[in-house]
Amino acid sequence: MNKLEIIEPGRCSDAQAGGFSSLSPAVFRASTITFATLDDFVARKSRPADGYTYGVTGTPTHRGLETRIASLDKARHCLVVPSGQAAISLTMLALLKAGDHFLISDASYGPAHDFAFRLTQLGVEVERYDPCIGDAIAAMIRPNTRLIWLESPGTITMEVQDVPAIVAQAKARGVLTAIDNSWASPLYYSPLSLGVDLCIHACSKHMGGHSDLLMGSISTNDVALHSALRALQSSMGLAVSADDCFLVQRGLDTMALRLEAQSAKALRIAEFLQGHPMVRQVLHPALASFGTHSLWRAQFTGSGSLFSLVLQDAPLDAFRALFNAFKHIAIGASYGGLHSLAAFYPVQNQANRRFPTVQAPVIRLAVGIEDDTTLIDELGRSLEAFDEVLNASSAKESV
Ligand SMILES: *Cc1c(COP(=O)(O)O)cnc(C)c1O
Repeated sequence: MNKLEIIEPGRCSDAQAGGFSSLSPAVFRASTITFATLDDFVARKSRPADGYTYGVTGTPTHRGLETRIASLDKARHCLVVPSGQAAISLTMLALLKAGDHFLISDASYGPAHDFAFRLTQLGVEVERYDPCIGDAIAAMIRPNTRLIWLESPGTITMEVQDVPAIVAQAKARGVLTAIDNSWASPLYYSPLSLGVDLCIHACSKHMGGHSDLLMGSISTNDVALHSALRALQSSMGLAVSADDCFLVQRGLDTMALRLEAQSAKALRIAEFLQGHPMVRQVLHPALASFGTHSLWRAQFTGSGSLFSLVLQDAPLDAFRALFNAFKHIAIGASYGGLHSLAAFYPVQNQANRRFPTVQAPVIRLAVGIEDDTTLIDELGRSLEAFDEVLNASSAKESV
């Protein structure tokens, strides 16, 4: 057997030596972190939250990305975890304990609801609130309310929340607030500047930008909250790959350009759809016709690439015809990538809500970087296919 090379401990700390310089961040992969002395090793657990102790809480590659996201979020601290959903569940689990009361917006991301209601098994009291509640949230806050969960606009139905009003009521009563800001990205909305305590992103969406990775981030200005999150990240083993951090860094390099292009295309497509006879309602916060448009205008500096549609009442076959007619648009439930996507949410989804704002099936469109005229043509053709099935079925009914 060949003699194996001896790897010297600490060799990675020399990576920047020797006059090397480039435009890309270094990728430090590590499970083991090495320590110079016995005392350093013994004292490793008392390093600050962003110190290096073991690969699970990250390497300089992770810190580089966390620092960049913190700066975009106008936050002092940030940590990254393996998915947007992991960021949601970690935040809830780190902050809530038995006996706490937890208020969650009824329009939040579905898996966030699922996780919240799992916490009832651990003795947390979970209650949904109307996303459009505004400062009437005050009446729902109890002495044991610990956390209010916001997501604005809401997943699928796009209700824009009155975040400043909710934050004011929460702050007056010592209640924490956390927001899922994945739709707008840090470029178009800065909830920490409005007093929200924790800001969550699904980095899988606009930040990664290429539909090829999963990651989540949690930013805060509160070092105690950050330390609690870091400790639970370690204890749950929520490790993120350094290679994925590299990819999100690369995604961030083009995020402003992508988002500017995609949000402009999304708005143009939304305006086209708004005038289409088969479309009953376009749920896009930047359209003046949208119910909570004024709240969007007052708080946001741009709009995302994702919006929803409610069509004329029709049998499921009409929706099948619509989706089958897509050639460029892929069927799938995500956004923020280069490719346009369409997702379908049956009427039961809304019926299952406590405070539904829509009573119909919803189609959600994620607009990519494709030529928007091509997308508009495709949507026009698909709506014709929808119309044909709808007409055929109403002709049958009236016989
Ligand atoms: C996609 C998404 C998530 C979950 O992110 P993953 O990385 O897919 O787990 C959470 N919240 C919102 C609003 C999302 O759109």
